[in-house]
Amino acid sequence: MIRLAIQKSGRLSEDSLNLIRECGISFLSSSYKLKTEATNFPLEILYLRDDDIPGYVQDGVADLGIVGQNVLVEAGLPHLEIEGLGFSKCRLSLAVPRAAAYDSVADLQGKNIATSYPEILGAYLRERGVEANLHTISGSVEIAPSIGLAEAICDIVSSGSTLLGNGLREVETVFRSEAVLIAHQKMSAEKKEILEQLQFRMQAVRRARR
Ligand code: ATP
Ligand code: ZN
Repeated sequence: MIRLAIQKSGRLSEDSLNLIRECGISFLSSSYKLKTEATNFPLEILYLRDDDIPGYVQDGVADLGIVGQNVLVEAGLPHLEIEGLGFSKCRLSLAVPRAAAYDSVADLQGKNIATSYPEILGAYLRERGVEANLHTISGSVEIAPSIGLAEAICDIVSSGSTLLGNGLREVETVFRSEAVLIAHQKMSAEKKEILEQLQFRMQAVRRARR
């Protein structure tokens, strides 16, 4: 039996469940349960907050997980990734108030930037020799400039309409993300074999979708 952690409820949940079902794996799911066992494959599904998934897989509490690369890299655990899954594509971008002057990332020198991704943003700015004050907040990042908390933000963007609605414009793409399959690094031979079967099915599903 192998244990897979997926997001309990959010932007990854539906596509994660669909992928498992399209692999021909049947299970009962109910919104209040924290785990389910598949009826026709040696798989147990755990439902967690996405932020908790990388750590649980690193520790081996779960053998496998489905999570956004943004969360995986922010957690400092990129080496757990074994395969891109092609859904939940989004980007982490820098944005400034629409009227603010902006030519290049050097304009952020000494500025206050609000983000939920201090690790990824910190690395991006360091590589470009920019020193800024990062304010880590966990939600509603896009309102930070209008309440005077920051001169810029770095947040997940998919269409850009949330930014526009808050009077912001996107100026740099910091990171591109999609959902990925991650795995614990020390698995038994038996679990490795189940993982191989699961990956074989997932790849077949993706080929069929193209
Ligand atoms: P949780 O309650 O599990 O912590 P959350 O609020 O942190 O959830 P969601 O908003 O559900 O997270 O997003 C989960 C993941 O989906 C993100 O980390 C990112 O990889 C991806 N994602 C976020 N926004 C979008 C979007 N607009 N379009 C596509 N994918 C997105
Ligand atoms: Zn989260």
